[in-house]
Amino acid sequence: METGFSVTTTASSQLLDITARVSEAIASLDLREGAVMVFVPHTTAGVTINEAADPDVAADLTAALERMVPSGMRFRHAEGNSPAHLRASLVGSSVLVPVSRGRLCLGTWQGIFFCEFDGPRTRRVLVRGLAS
Ligand code: ZN
Repeated sequence: METGFSVTTTASSQLLDITARVSEAIASLDLREGAVMVFVPHTTAGVTINEAADPDVAADLTAALERMVPSGMRFRHAEGNSPAHLRASLVGSSVLVPVSRGRLCLGTWQGIFFCEFDGPRTRRVLVRGLAS
């Protein structure tokens, strides 16, 4: 029981709130009880959970990751996008979220964010339902 969806980013670094898309995926999987694994099959993008109420939090997280791994740093990887690879590893490629009564068990302020680090481009997000 797996589904997915595409996201199109519009900036080199960008966090997109995909909570509603994941909820739609749960409905399409007809998952009532269990969990969902949200997985990003890319090496320069990731997924994380953080505050979705104030968009400044996502903006601050993006800016902080850029300061932690500055674009001007020297790296061996010849493609030139090493900062994007490192930022992707810092946030990770998947999140696991409990599901109860067909709904995500997120906290009041939590949202699921797709994290673009080498955009803009179109990406894929996989959602696998784990029934219990
Ligand atoms: Zn690369």
